[in-house]
Amino acid sequence: LFTLDTAKDWLDRFDAAVHEHKAHLTELDSAIGDADHGSNMARGVTAVNQAVAGAAPDTLDEMFKLVGMTLVSSVGGASGPLYGTFFLRFGVDAGATESLDGAGLAAALQAGLGGVAARGKAEQGDKTMIDAMAPALESFAAAIEAGDSLRDAARAAAEAAAKGRDATEPWEARKGRASYLGERSAGHIDPGAASTTLLFEALAAAQS
Ligand code: ADP
Ligand code: MG
Ligand code: MG
Repeated sequence: LFTLDTAKDWLDRFDAAVHEHKAHLTELDSAIGDADHGSNMARGVTAVNQAVAGAAPDTLDEMFKLVGMTLVSSVGGASGPLYGTFFLRFGVDAGATESLDGAGLAAALQAGLGGVAARGKAEQGDKTMIDAMAPALESFAAAIEAGDSLRDAARAAAEAAAKGRDATEPWEARKGRASYLGERSAGHIDPGAASTTLLFEALAAAQS
């Protein structure tokens, strides 16, 4: 089961991973953006963990609405509202419960992705975080449907996210700041796809 404790562990691990890879995320963004993705994300996850620790939410919707609102308000870049919307929609879909089973978690993640797509208007292939998130969720849902454990499904999702991230390298960006570079955006991994991979790796490692 994905419980409040799993959720907290997920967010802690994402926080640690973002800080560990902060310089790398910024390096990726320096090639095709404005060199702030690492610092944007680090500021966001730090604010999230402070907010969650201070509020001690006792349902998943409370927790993830807080996470989403904190990201929207603490991260200036495009990634703040997008990740913020992901977690807000995740929380709304999860509802006033303390735990989700695999199918429930798959649905909440899918709702989150729907929020990102609605807000950013990007599709797969536009070289954004969607290119890691969409294949991750496809693999997650397929694994759950095949009867895999939540942990194994999350591992499959993390692997699919990493593949999706790597696939962005040769592409030309069609959304976000990197799209201003046109064909010069090719040859670099999308920073948001890299941070999204960290999010699914953190989920795969979270204790449930
Ligand atoms: P900014 O571009 O405002 O400096 P960040 O550097 O923090 O913000 O985040 C950049 C990342 O945001 C990109 O690498 C991309 O993955 C993601 N992104 C940007 N625009 C969109 C969009 N319209 N839809 C989905 N993701 C997007
Ligand atoms: Mg940037
Ligand atoms: Mg910026």
